[in-house]
Amino acid sequence: MTQAPKGTHDIYGEEMRLWRKAETEIRSITDVFGYHEIRTPMFEATELFLRGVGDTTDIVQKEMYTFQDKGGRSMTLRPEQTAGVARAFIERGLHNAPQPTKVFYIGPCFRYEKPQSGRYRQHYQFGVECFGAGSPAVEAEVISLGHTLISRLSITGVQVHINSIGCVECRIAYNEKLRAFLAEKLESLCGLCAGRYEKNPLRVLDCKSPNCQAQITEAPATTSCLCKECENHFATLQDLLTQMGVPYIVDAKVVRGLDYYTRTVFEFIKDGGQTVIGGGRYDGLIKQLGGTDTPAVGFGMGMERLTSLINETNPTDETTPVIFIGHADEKGFTAACKLTDDLRKMGIRAVNDPANRSVKAQMKYADKINARFTTILGESEVTSGACKIRNMQTREEITLPLANVSTYIQP
Ligand code: ATP
Ligand code: MG
Repeated sequence: MTQAPKGTHDIYGEEMRLWRKAETEIRSITDVFGYHEIRTPMFEATELFLRGVGDTTDIVQKEMYTFQDKGGRSMTLRPEQTAGVARAFIERGLHNAPQPTKVFYIGPCFRYEKPQSGRYRQHYQFGVECFGAGSPAVEAEVISLGHTLISRLSITGVQVHINSIGCVECRIAYNEKLRAFLAEKLESLCGLCAGRYEKNPLRVLDCKSPNCQAQITEAPATTSCLCKECENHFATLQDLLTQMGVPYIVDAKVVRGLDYYTRTVFEFIKDGGQTVIGGGRYDGLIKQLGGTDTPAVGFGMGMERLTSLINETNPTDETTPVIFIGHADEKGFTAACKLTDDLRKMGIRAVNDPANRSVKAQMKYADKINARFTTILGESEVTSGACKIRNMQTREEITLPLANVSTYIQP
């Protein structure tokens, strides 16, 4: 038998319920925060990710699913969605609409990673992007949005970690300071980090290797090199988060070492270390991708990591049938099919028995699928035009004209 590809998973049954719950909250929260859905292609020209994700990242260095299409073009399954959304912003001229442009997305991303808990080769991301506003109010808004989602899902033990890596100017000063710090540790860094030391030393701080992590415990904080404006920006963000009641930790270990990241970076981290949300300000991205200079803020959240944290013992019954309509004979079967169809067209979840089972087996089935009401139709019900409806919880029975069933069972 052919098996699912390594690092992928099927979502169904109970787990699907949690996903739907999370997605429902996401749609409701993004709606009130004013973020509109965008869907971009699952594959893009490889070059977009080289420029839009950065060639010193893990993603570009080792994780991309890149292939040549039949026309000989190099394509890549999106490893993240910001690059595609930024491309759409530029290509569709979204900057001509009143700014800021606020969008959200939910969809699969692909990374060739070693599969383990919370790490898949196809995973889903929910994310938001806000283009066209430079104020720290935007960071505060998206952080509050993420925090609201986590709270609505009653998830506990997730902390908001924020940091500032400054602007281009601050970065020049910081890189110098960091290189000086790393210089004598070069021998002990992994091969990738040796390259990062030259090209983009900030990425070393983000390396996953425990060895590299051990070398950088005493590394200087990015906040030690902030210019006055960046310092004010970071202070205002903290003030806003406090006003909004979002608890946060200033954490020098959080960095996103891409050239176009500026000022704020943040992660939502679960006790034990798993990152659920990663985001920040990337004022340089749109220009880097060929658009006009446009400030931007966004985050990406792993849906698998999010749903695994929902602690739900009492799944919502949004998919349990309202009524099971069984049949006792041939005439009843036709009537049951018709009544089921009528109720469905009124928006009521109705189920009948397409398997031709005995009445006893049908009732057992109705019980197993947790139908709230049941009825059995036969020749006599068809003749009289009335049926007996049983409330499966109270065991109460009531006889009703067939035409009145919908009003009686409507929740
Ligand atoms: P990590 O440090 O865990 O590798 P990352 O920095 O590569 O994360 P981002 O690119 O910021 O992650 O992606 C945003 C979010 O998407 C992550 O915080 C995480 O929740 C989720 N995510 C990233 N890669 C995977 C994956 N392979 N499987 C499942 N979820 C993932
Ligand atoms: Mg990663």
